[in-house]
Amino acid sequence: MSNIIYVVVGGGAAGFFGAISCAERFTDDKVILLEKHRQLLSKVRISGGGRCNVTHACFDPKLLVKNYPRGSKELLGPFTRFHPSDTISWFEKRGVKLKTEDDGRMFPTTDSSETIIACLQNAARKAKVDVRTETGIDQINKKENGFELSLSDGTVLTCHRLLVASGSTPKMYPLLEKLGHTIVPLVPSLFTFNIPDSPFLELAGISVPQAKVTLPHLSQEQTGPLLITHWGFSGPAVLKLSAWAARELHQLNYKTEVKINWLPSLSVGELQQVLSECKQKQAAKQMGSEPPLPLPKQLWRKILSLADIISEARWSTLSNQQMQTLITLIHGTSCQIDGKTTYKQEFVTCGGISLNEVNFKTMESRRCPGLFFAGEVLDVDGVTGGFNFQNAWTTGWIAGQSMGVES
Ligand SMILES: Cc1cc2nc3c(=O)[nH]c(=O)nc-3n(C[C@H](O)[C@H](O)[C@H](O)COP(=O)(O)OP(=O)(O)OC[C@H]3O[C@@H](n4cnc5c(N)ncnc54)[C@H](O)[C@@H]3O)c2cc1C
Repeated sequence: MSNIIYVVVGGGAAGFFGAISCAERFTDDKVILLEKHRQLLSKVRISGGGRCNVTHACFDPKLLVKNYPRGSKELLGPFTRFHPSDTISWFEKRGVKLKTEDDGRMFPTTDSSETIIACLQNAARKAKVDVRTETGIDQINKKENGFELSLSDGTVLTCHRLLVASGSTPKMYPLLEKLGHTIVPLVPSLFTFNIPDSPFLELAGISVPQAKVTLPHLSQEQTGPLLITHWGFSGPAVLKLSAWAARELHQLNYKTEVKINWLPSLSVGELQQVLSECKQKQAAKQMGSEPPLPLPKQLWRKILSLADIISEARWSTLSNQQMQTLITLIHGTSCQIDGKTTYKQEFVTCGGISLNEVNFKTMESRRCPGLFFAGEVLDVDGVTGGFNFQNAWTTGWIAGQSMGVES
């Protein structure tokens, strides 16, 4: 085919990647990218605290998909075609080097999201993508040979193929429902837990490297770094749990019990042994003077106070019952979640276009031929760490490659 007009809706990560991939492959055709706001790539700009966590150093598609509470099955095929190594090379070929941090997150070596924005905008310019800002789509009408789009400036644009990469913007979904799609209800993912009655609030800023966070009523748990905040708990363990339990927590109106195991690496027997040894060998020492376990001192003192033990108490006075209380608190301090917060960090929406209505080999709709999807508009979301952008790059790239191919 030649002289085809492709329209991409959404000037975010997925829309840019889709438009560039399409324009670089189908050079005789015209690619138009429409963004309703004045600013392009606004989420990329604020992402990763302004550093843009572009992807994750995880190169096995089978392991990579484990980071997607929704979409893991469907993304396996796409990740065998475009995965983090391809993302790294894509940016490197266009002059942007990425670096890996200890936890696997990858950022531009400049530590600035502006580098990624400039790269995407240059690549779009070079590939002759016609980028139009302040141009939203208000209506989509399916025609025999394509689509008729009513734009926010009152004009009508026709195209042969349409890629919708509008993110989780709710206004887009009714238009897509009219084209035959089912929308899985939208609920937030990646948030921190509000614990207004938490006895730990005064320890805000303290973190433990490896805590186990459990939601007993939902039978869900995650292990990882935990941060005590002014309003409750945060850190990777909590964010991951919020993603995996996003729907259930929404149903519970974000009110449920959470249990923190501060030291999951030690068994009950091992804790008992450490505490018994302290009682015998440091009998005259004050219990709060130094933590006998790998816990921050203030946290250890707080756990003592929750067990009704004053910091000045001598180890010799520790009763068996107090020892059991300490072990119970270390292995499962119980708190009540009451609300959630998305605070300055990555947050995403779970829900969107139902995945069984999309062919993940091409990202084309199974309901409406000629319509393609990429990025967060789909019912796909990942945990924090660069996985959400990887979904945008992969699905955007595949959609762009497939749009000009006769189906
Ligand atoms: C604060 C924050 C930090 C984040 N940090 C990271 C990170 O470091 N790493 C990571 O992997 N993920 C991160 N994420 C998640 C990531 O930003 C998103 O998953 C990703 O941007 C989704 O890309 P997208 O292109 O699908 O959607 P979006 O980036 O939301 O882009 C969609 C675009 O479509 C436009 N649009 C919508 N409707 C219309 C319409 N009718 N007509 C025209 N245009 C329309 C919107 O204005 C928008 O510009 C972060 C998210 C947030 C909120």
